[in-house]
Amino acid sequence: MVVMPAKVIEGKELAHQIRNELAEDVAKLKEQGVTPQLTVIIVGDDPASKSYVNGKKKASSQTGISSDVIEMPSTISEQELLDKINMLNRDETVHGILVQLPLPDHINEQHIIESISPQKDVDGFHPINTGKMMLGEDTFLPCTPYGIITMLHSYDIQIEGKHAVVIGRSNIVGKPVGQLLLNENATVTYCHSRTNQLTDFTKNADILVVAVGKPYAICAEHIKQGSVIIDVGINRLDDGTLTGDVDFGSAAEKASYITPVPKGVGPMTITMLLRNTIKAAKGLTGIGR
Ligand code: NAD
Repeated sequence: MVVMPAKVIEGKELAHQIRNELAEDVAKLKEQGVTPQLTVIIVGDDPASKSYVNGKKKASSQTGISSDVIEMPSTISEQELLDKINMLNRDETVHGILVQLPLPDHINEQHIIESISPQKDVDGFHPINTGKMMLGEDTFLPCTPYGIITMLHSYDIQIEGKHAVVIGRSNIVGKPVGQLLLNENATVTYCHSRTNQLTDFTKNADILVVAVGKPYAICAEHIKQGSVIIDVGINRLDDGTLTGDVDFGSAAEKASYITPVPKGVGPMTITMLLRNTIKAAKGLTGIGR
């Protein structure tokens, strides 16, 4: 049998292309007097969170979006954080609000997510936006699932009628990406840590989304010949290298398409945050819609 290596879905390149388009959109908004503004709140000094926030700030400025980072100590109370968010909700110059997760244990993440104005919820985590997504209404889609769907569209990968298997059921990745695939008429199966005989499901996936957070959780023996593999995982190995949840080398020999880590889903996630911020600015000002 001739081995046909998979086509690599170049998330970084696609993200770059979309960011150029977004920059043009921002320039037009600026001509009409609106500069999209994103405010990110970071609580504590977790190095990974800081690095994600820096990435968001850099990408915003490259696109012409104004961004502001509010750093708060890990000792702040939930009420102090809620007060800060309420202030930003009322501030007309702020279009997008993002609270970097995770938060310290004494702060209830759901209270915080629900306190952000749904019109400024550029992460797409507010229950109102989650509900609208479920109903297939226009809303802020959560950035990683949105990035994944955008990748599939950009590579003309058929979703309708396909069997999509999602491994992972978190509120920020697994559940919403399955919902978006369902909205596009895929037949969706969710797998998670309590799934028995995982391979029985993954072997039947036309599109396999892996969002587990464990290096090499999935390799060639788990997947179907010709399937599309989307690796969401970001894992840092002991030697400092970044890797996904999928054994790229072996899976690429069997898949038709595969995302790399890094340079796959990650850059698309930030790009969708920029897109959502522009959408928020248009929605709140009524300009450019
Ligand atoms: P999470 O820890 O909240 O969820 C992990 C999920 O994996 C759970 O639902 C769990 O049931 C499932 N799981 C765990 N072990 C399993 C196993 N052995 N078999 C089957 N399922 C299993 O994580 P998350 O926030 O959804 O993130 C998942 C991964 O994606 C992490 O590596 C995270 O860093 C990464 N991530 C990447 C991006 C990006 O932009 N690329 C964005 C968000 C998260």
